Amino acid sequence: MTTSFTPTALEVAAAEAVPSADELAGTYELQPNNNKATQEVREAKMAKLLFGKDFSDSMAHATWTTEDGWHNRAIEPYGALSLDPAAAVLHYGQEVFEGLKAYRHDDGSIWTFRPTYNAARLNHSSRRLAIPELTHEDFMASIVDLVRADNEWVPDVPGSSFYLRPFIFASEAFLGVAAASRYEYYVIASPSGPYFTHGFQPINVWVEPTYHRAGPGGMGDAKTGGNYAASLLPKVKAHDAGYDEVLFLDAKTDKNLDELGGMNVFIVMADGSIKTPQLTGNILAGNTRSCIIQLLRSQGRSVTEETIPLAELLEEFGSGQAVEMFACGTAAVVTAIGSLTSEDFHVKIPTGPTTKNIYDELTAIQLGHVEDTFGWTYRLM
Ligand SMILES: *Cc1c(COP(=O)(O)O)cnc(C)c1O
Repeated sequence: MTTSFTPTALEVAAAEAVPSADELAGTYELQPNNNKATQEVREAKMAKLLFGKDFSDSMAHATWTTEDGWHNRAIEPYGALSLDPAAAVLHYGQEVFEGLKAYRHDDGSIWTFRPTYNAARLNHSSRRLAIPELTHEDFMASIVDLVRADNEWVPDVPGSSFYLRPFIFASEAFLGVAAASRYEYYVIASPSGPYFTHGFQPINVWVEPTYHRAGPGGMGDAKTGGNYAASLLPKVKAHDAGYDEVLFLDAKTDKNLDELGGMNVFIVMADGSIKTPQLTGNILAGNTRSCIIQLLRSQGRSVTEETIPLAELLEEFGSGQAVEMFACGTAAVVTAIGSLTSEDFHVKIPTGPTTKNIYDELTAIQLGHVEDTFGWTYRLM
């Protein structure tokens, strides 16, 4: 039996062809950089990779104004920004961002993973925050030119990557509450080790009974700082109580699973089927989530996107109907969830082979260790 599934708008956009890296190269003009790290400093940093702590020598930058649209595309020296204190982003949070990775393959070539999905999602987020869109070509060119300029910073040790952080913010100096008339687009990059320093150990998750990261009609499906700001206090409290991450419930009913606030979640059932919360508008449509769904379906496994009531899930773990739970996102790829706890329950979750298999299969594609039959990888240089 073959079942066809309707792709999401982001999946359709992600499948659109974009020019090769050679064709895009040079769109962002390479500026002189007198501020490069010495080889010694770079090698010292590359020898002990953290996540998102060290940054490469350059950053991509373009500016948008009402008169000129996006212009002044350049690869500039990485460094502090000069911003008017009245810049709208500092007051009203008009900002969107993305996260993707570049990987060095065994032959030294550098690739990224399904970047057109990120390009499409950046625009999706921008539309929600009344920020001007960027063409997919422009987004791709910024990644190509930055990675080519800073290719020495792309690590090659297992589990490492070159984390790319594109973002757009309102830079107009104006305190009136309005969509700004000036924006800056930047891409910065960080040679990174694994997101979780404890390896593939399961994380302990606090199910948040009070706070929400987003609500109906809000910005839950946009990748924007405001949602993260809303998640920080519950995260701090959960951390202080010894939990690694927070699972948020939907703000409308307070009953159903949303996501971790930076990662989507999946549940593996004893019968081999897999389920994940459906995209309600409150959940960020993860690139990793989308890839996992496609990967599993291509293997003939049943994956459903549905409303998942917390009470039902706890019962399913109690009865053994549900056997694994994991979180996923670009930074950590896939991480097992070892327990769910809240004010009135504590449920231990077994670890099983499915979570690790998905991690292995996805990273094998990302690293070029197996053939990419999905067309997800894109060669940068
Ligand atoms: C980025 C993000 C994710 C994961 O998305 P990926 O594209 O897989 O990295 C999940 N939830 C939120 C809120 C996010 O910002």
